[in-house]
Amino acid sequence: MASAMWPGLVRAWMRSALLLWLACSSVWAQSDASPALSQAADQGPQMQAIRVSESAWYVEGLSALGSSANQNFISNAAFVLTPGGVVVIDALGSPALANRLLQEIRKITPLPVTHVIVTHYHADHIYGLQAFKAQGAHIIAQRAAKEYLNSDTARLRLIASRHDLAPWIDETTHLVEADEWIDGPMQLDVGGYQFLLQPVGPAHTPEDLVVYLAREKVLFAGDLVFRSRIPYVGQADSGHWIKALDALLSFDATVVVPGHGGLSLHPREDMELTRDYLVYLRQSMGTAAKNMEPFEDAYQAADWMRFEHLPLFRIANRMNAYNTYLLMEKEAQ
Ligand SMILES: [Zn+2]
Repeated sequence: MASAMWPGLVRAWMRSALLLWLACSSVWAQSDASPALSQAADQGPQMQAIRVSESAWYVEGLSALGSSANQNFISNAAFVLTPGGVVVIDALGSPALANRLLQEIRKITPLPVTHVIVTHYHADHIYGLQAFKAQGAHIIAQRAAKEYLNSDTARLRLIASRHDLAPWIDETTHLVEADEWIDGPMQLDVGGYQFLLQPVGPAHTPEDLVVYLAREKVLFAGDLVFRSRIPYVGQADSGHWIKALDALLSFDATVVVPGHGGLSLHPREDMELTRDYLVYLRQSMGTAAKNMEPFEDAYQAADWMRFEHLPLFRIANRMNAYNTYLLMEKEAQ
């Protein structure tokens, strides 16, 4: 009896070992021809590079929470082709996705990725960094991210992600430090193309960095700009965020690649919407906090008419208002 079961058990074991190997190896597979990588592409969400300008392209993540099914493809990444190599902005939410982005780049150019610029160290923008690092790319970020990188929050988040986003985040996935930490604005020249790296934090995060490609008037805004939806405010410093948006408006970009969602072809309106929303949150909740009016009363009394038609209003607005109320209480002290 036992010996009759044995070949079946061996076959089942071999099948699961093979599946496990395919799943795990896809995380660090780098070759175009890798069967594991194409399996990752087959199983995962669609990814297609969309042209932004003469030299810039981007891929657009899903409007969803990160999951095993979507490989954590919930944020955007962009790349710029220069005669001296490719500059990537943000690394996506898993090494497998980063490898798929590399595949998209290779469809367009054989040139290597020379630089990766990180707009901020949120998991969905950085878990792919190790794939670019393995290819020899030079990673640049704003120095304030170091505090997060060395925090328990970052460590625990990665541990949780190994479970929540398995197998795309696993034991081989690790946090990657920048090769170059910048403190102020930087002009980066790659192949004769000028990139302005402008720190604008603390806003969405302490380390927010935007990238401006002046020759094509393209602004890579990270998570400072949320397009056609209610922004996610979280623990953000909304006062500085508003100032940062004013700084972005001065760039005079004709197209903005946001951290999430589609391209902004009307950057001024989109940025003004985010700014006006933050201003209104701070005004309405600030007055209530100062007068020690309870949050619930202030929330009911506020006039949300201008924003309530926006996607995610029902999901995000109350939490945004509440976080702002707490922030304004703190600022009032
Ligand atoms: Zn994000």
